[in-house]
Amino acid sequence: MSYVVTARKWRPQFFRDVVAQKHVTETLKNAIKSGRIGHAYLFSGPRGVGKTTVARIFAKALNCEKGPAEEPCNECPTCLSIQSGTSLDIQEMDGASNNSVDDARELISNVGYHSQSHYKIYIIDEVHMLTTPAFNALLKTLEEPPSGVIFVFATTEPQKIPATILSRCQRFDFSRLSVQEIAGKLKKIAETDSITADESALMLIARRASGAMRDGESILEQLKASRGASISVADVNEILGLADREVFFGIIDRCHERDTRGDLELFTAYHEQGGDLKEFVEGLLGHLRDLLYAKFKGGIDQIPLSDDMKERIRSQSGWFEQGDIIRMITMVADVESSLGYAVMPVLRIEVALARMAVMETTVELKSLFELLGGESALTGAPIPLPQPGDISGTSAEAVVTSGGAHQAAKKKTDADLFKKSEEKPDFPKIAPDIDSISSSWKYITDRVSIQKPAIGPVLALGVPESFEKGKLAVRFDAGQEFQMKTCAEYSADIEEIIGTILGMKVAVHVFVRRSGAAKKKNNEIDDLISREPIIGDILERFGGEINDSWRE
Ligand SMILES: [Zn+2]
Repeated sequence: MSYVVTARKWRPQFFRDVVAQKHVTETLKNAIKSGRIGHAYLFSGPRGVGKTTVARIFAKALNCEKGPAEEPCNECPTCLSIQSGTSLDIQEMDGASNNSVDDARELISNVGYHSQSHYKIYIIDEVHMLTTPAFNALLKTLEEPPSGVIFVFATTEPQKIPATILSRCQRFDFSRLSVQEIAGKLKKIAETDSITADESALMLIARRASGAMRDGESILEQLKASRGASISVADVNEILGLADREVFFGIIDRCHERDTRGDLELFTAYHEQGGDLKEFVEGLLGHLRDLLYAKFKGGIDQIPLSDDMKERIRSQSGWFEQGDIIRMITMVADVESSLGYAVMPVLRIEVALARMAVMETTVELKSLFELLGGESALTGAPIPLPQPGDISGTSAEAVVTSGGAHQAAKKKTDADLFKKSEEKPDFPKIAPDIDSISSSWKYITDRVSIQKPAIGPVLALGVPESFEKGKLAVRFDAGQEFQMKTCAEYSADIEEIIGTILGMKVAVHVFVRRSGAAKKKNNEIDDLISREPIIGDILERFGGEINDSWRE
């Protein structure tokens, strides 16, 4: 019994079955119809989008015993032999593994000999991998091609092909497939193969395929092999190791209810079941991104999910102001960017989740600033994001809680914002000495966060060490080199903001403590708590303690 993987079994056999490359297939069909067949074609595009598939259909259409025709018959001996890979008139070569000049010479050695009724077609995949001598060997044939010989080169990296070869080819650029296109094809496969699969499950597979139909098909094949004829979203998540979307719906539900404990419990359960931290953070970011899109006019239609999923996204999104969602994205994105080197990645995620759930506190802090220093303190909060289409509200909305405790968002123009940020805020001054700076470090870094949301939390990890003659030294622990460098990179911004707070010109010097002895665990945790008071809050609220398993 032969096992035909889905990707091959479902390889399109007609031009009309090729998904999303109409600009290519129509041109090729017209060329066949009008008899204007070139000697060399270059099919370029990402992997898995159908380049070699189209090359084989082209070969069949040209050599079909009922043709040349716009579509092959797929029934005559010639079509069948091409389909099964036994036709002598079609030579396929993989440039990745056969890239030497000898390979090229061997391939074209009998280029002149072929049956008169048929085209001799050379399909070279990954042609950019050929060595220069191999290209040169090919070039001779390309310069004076025997009649009836056609080269089809496929490549993912056309820029690596010598200009002398490129100039002799008709070039076709294949497009990456959209999630909808892949899902549509998967749906057809599922129907024909008697697989019951939710629309959401297919969408999820398609999303994961990242534009390559072949990847989508092999994921479906894997699922079919392990799950049989019925495939759900949970199956897809399990196979792909993705965090279940339900976890994210749950987490946002808890944030809306300000239920920090519930929020963290959902994450703990996910983590204890072996869920991957990186995928969790990426999944949560993806979910928040969908919530943000749902705030835009027509944005919901850009989300590749089933209708009932879209409806749930829309309703969750309705709980939050656009600014709230952007702030949550910033919190999670901060974690994502530090996940690789964070000492306690689990804790960092938990802090972000807790922050999301108690966001009101942050807003209260902002309103405190508002009382103290007018609106200018608010202006830095929203971060610019790519915003497709029309946007409901403006990116410059003041941040308002969903609880409505604060005044409705005022629409401000960018010019207003710019003007305001230039005004000198009238904040209470902090004495320019190390004790005052140390005791107000949280306040200072919060101020930095407001204007530079990505930098403030990083700076907050540092500890002010000394302040002399306007020079502020901020120490980071060993292992925080990346954070230190990030602050160094943005030192001009940090200096400006702290300078405003202190009312003087400030130079900031960041450094990593060099002393060798590793600190004891408890000290480390104390340090962390003093830098991140919210961790202390969490421990206090739940009577918890940090044990080694939290470190990962
Ligand atoms: Zn045929």
